[in-house]
Amino acid sequence: MKLPDKIKHLQVFSSKTFIYATHITLACVFTAELNIIHAHFLLGMQLTYISFIMPTFAGVLFGYLLARVKLLGEQLKEIAYTDSLTNIYNRLHFNRLLDAEMDKAKRYGGQLSLIFFDIDHFKQINDTHGHPTGDIVLKEIATVISEANRSSDVFARYGGEEFIILTASTNIKGAMEHAQRLKQDIEQHRFPIGRVTASFGVTEFNAASDDQKSLLERADKALYQAKSDGRNCVRQL
Ligand code: GH3
Ligand code: MG
Ligand code: MG
Repeated sequence: MKLPDKIKHLQVFSSKTFIYATHITLACVFTAELNIIHAHFLLGMQLTYISFIMPTFAGVLFGYLLARVKLLGEQLKEIAYTDSLTNIYNRLHFNRLLDAEMDKAKRYGGQLSLIFFDIDHFKQINDTHGHPTGDIVLKEIATVISEANRSSDVFARYGGEEFIILTASTNIKGAMEHAQRLKQDIEQHRFPIGRVTASFGVTEFNAASDDQKSLLERADKALYQAKSDGRNCVRQL
């Protein structure tokens, strides 16, 4: 992670901790003070400074600890869902979301398509410029595509230099147009090593006959076709 990203991450983390801790603390302190006031009126117990200060202190500490635990839980969830290099979804989470979208399309109707793409001659990029530069290319591809995608698109790193997009409410025609645009975006982007291209396979979900395996296999076959046809192109099946 770059330094500005780290600072931003830390700022979000600390402001979230502050908000959670404040809410939880207020709830803890409020409950504790209410109990003291109850004890005073119902049991006739004496009110002293210490009887207010101690529960307040305990409430602040307890609130802070609870907030940290809540945030750590959120971070663990994020780690489980995302690819650590590119910060987009990982394969496992993508497959879960794809299952849910397929279920929805089967139950209520509606279209969905897959765009599967793979960077061309990526091994050569690694061999010529080194693995860390290859990593930069992967990260930049993720950024270029994320910026071009619609907010409803689900985008994930599917393997080493393979990426996948689930386009909800989109038929094959719409998905082909989207894939052509993405292919151009990659081709026109200036990477630190110059020009990079990718090959694309596109397919539409058939609610009557598809399961996840058959849908992914068809997208993979379309991608294979794009590779055999000379790369830097989009093919559909
Ligand atoms: P093609 O055009 O047919 O797709 O050829 P290619 O060279 O892109 O494909 P190939 O499968 O031969 O090589 C993929 C390379 O991707 C090999 C592997 O070392 C590299 N790779 C996989 N994951 C990573 C990664 O996280 N970082 C980097 N830098 N390289 C990776
Ligand atoms: Mg490749
Ligand atoms: Mg590959």
